[in-house]
Amino acid sequence: MTQVNVIKGDITKVNVDAIVNAANTTLMGGGGVDGAIHRAAGPALYAACEKFHGCPTGEARITGGFNLPAKFIIHTPGPVWYGGTHGEDQLLANSYHNSLALAEQNHCQTVAFPSISTGVYAFPLDRAAKIAIATITDFLQSAKYVDQVTMVCFDDHTFAAYQEQIH
Ligand code: ADP
Repeated sequence: MTQVNVIKGDITKVNVDAIVNAANTTLMGGGGVDGAIHRAAGPALYAACEKFHGCPTGEARITGGFNLPAKFIIHTPGPVWYGGTHGEDQLLANSYHNSLALAEQNHCQTVAFPSISTGVYAFPLDRAAKIAIATITDFLQSAKYVDQVTMVCFDDHTFAAYQEQIH
């Protein structure tokens, strides 16, 4: 049975096959969830990310999990919100879809996402939650390996927005 669930918590502590990092296009670390993941995974993650020489918005790259409980970290730069007329919706859907495709290629069964783009990148939360859940639900219909996707929300407001989309 395929399933999407929403929890409140810190994604660096979640015990799943792959966690997704809301990275920036340099993949060299930053603030927010990206900084937390780099701190928790340790300096070997930085070295692994250096080899990619960046990543375009909406695409994804995979590394090991290093000091995290997760086996893999999937790094995807979500779109910066520029008002909604710069392809933001499609780019956000691409981030979710391409991250799940990498998880599937690596035979991951359980995947956890943070709320991509809704922090510093200022994507409107309800709109992002709708795109995230729709893209994940659609992907799960044809996935062979991925069967449990968890949205890990850092605050009550974010948690409520994603909860609303799964009910
Ligand atoms: P972006 O640049 O894609 O907007 P941010 O890191 O600024 O990314 O924010 C994305 C979301 O991740 C926000 O809801 C933020 O509160 C949340 N966040 C920050 N730290 C963590 C963490 N350790 N675990 C899960 N979510 C987190």
